[in-house]
Amino acid sequence: MDVILTGDRPTGKLHLGHYVGSLKRRVELQNSGKYHNIFIMIADAQALTDNADNINKVRNNISEVALDYLACGLDPKKSTIFIQSQIPELCELSFYYMNLVTVSRLQRNPTVKNEIQLRGFKQSIPVGFFTYPISQAADITAFKANIVPVGEDQLPMIEQTREIVRSFNSQYKPVLIEPTAVLPENSVCSRLPGIDGAAKMSKSIGNCIYLSDSSNDIKKKVQSMFTDPTHLRVEDPGHTENNPVFIYLDAFCKDEYFKEFLPAYQNLDEMKEHYRRGGLGDGVVKKFLNEILQTELKPIREKRELLAQDLPRIFYMLHQGSIKAREVAAQTLSEVKTAMGINYFKDDIFSGRIEI
Ligand code: ATP
Ligand code: MG
Repeated sequence: MDVILTGDRPTGKLHLGHYVGSLKRRVELQNSGKYHNIFIMIADAQALTDNADNINKVRNNISEVALDYLACGLDPKKSTIFIQSQIPELCELSFYYMNLVTVSRLQRNPTVKNEIQLRGFKQSIPVGFFTYPISQAADITAFKANIVPVGEDQLPMIEQTREIVRSFNSQYKPVLIEPTAVLPENSVCSRLPGIDGAAKMSKSIGNCIYLSDSSNDIKKKVQSMFTDPTHLRVEDPGHTENNPVFIYLDAFCKDEYFKEFLPAYQNLDEMKEHYRRGGLGDGVVKKFLNEILQTELKPIREKRELLAQDLPRIFYMLHQGSIKAREVAAQTLSEVKTAMGINYFKDDIFSGRIEI
């Protein structure tokens, strides 16, 4: 019985990194019909761990993320879409899991280390932020998810979850399931760089092309993209590795697009070869990338605009999803407390059903 859990922080609208890194895959998995249950979580509580002073940002982005989901093809009839903060059982689970993890183990988490640096926390790291890998373990295990489709930055979180599961199951009773991370098949999609060339496109850095960007914004952002700094004149030989424009082409280009927009080449390999040899300007490459992104994003943007006209319907869907998710998490929490021997009033001796 395969169960999926995955999600996003409502810290902004979703971007191309989310699309190729996780969203596209989720939709394929959802439509494969192979999964017993699919849970998609809008991680507002996790977003608050580094946005406690910016509640409105998190609040306002809940519906934005939900719109992005539906516009990309997630379907509430097939997937349970819910809001993390509405499931208090997740906090309870985190509280018990905290006793199974050491401070030094959290300090070693490379993604958290990197995010602390990016956010400039220095010595003022919020405790909630520092411990978010534990809360993520609660999110995954509450739904007994065994499959977690994510981008590469999430691998340390899944590893932390697996350790917590093993520790819990061996100390108490084997009630938790060890999850497996599923990365995109195309490795460039596991960590799409930002348009500024930074290692990761990220809402919190603001180096993104959003799924909802207007046609004009996409064009402007593509034109402003970082390329190969050594490729100064068209005739200079260029580098395609570590060149964000080519990385985006690796993620999005199909051979059909050459026929449609750039018939001088049959495929991406031919185009890369020309760039490396020299004689192919960045302007041509960017123009081609722009055509592709316009084609990929137009249907998503149009569907999104239509859905945005009825926000009450979106909130209704999130409410229904949260009710369903809560039932599942409550069942797991009850099993966890029984395994730990702290479900006191469910024990006959404590419930008063047995007189002492
Ligand atoms: P924030 O900056 O607030 O952390 P984010 O852009 O990193 O936002 P998240 O909500 O943290 O987005 O990530 C949600 C999912 O999207 C995770 O599975 C993550 O691995 C994946 N993801 C995020 N950014 C990228 C990216 N640039 N390339 C591939 N996958 C990504
Ligand atoms: Mg992130």
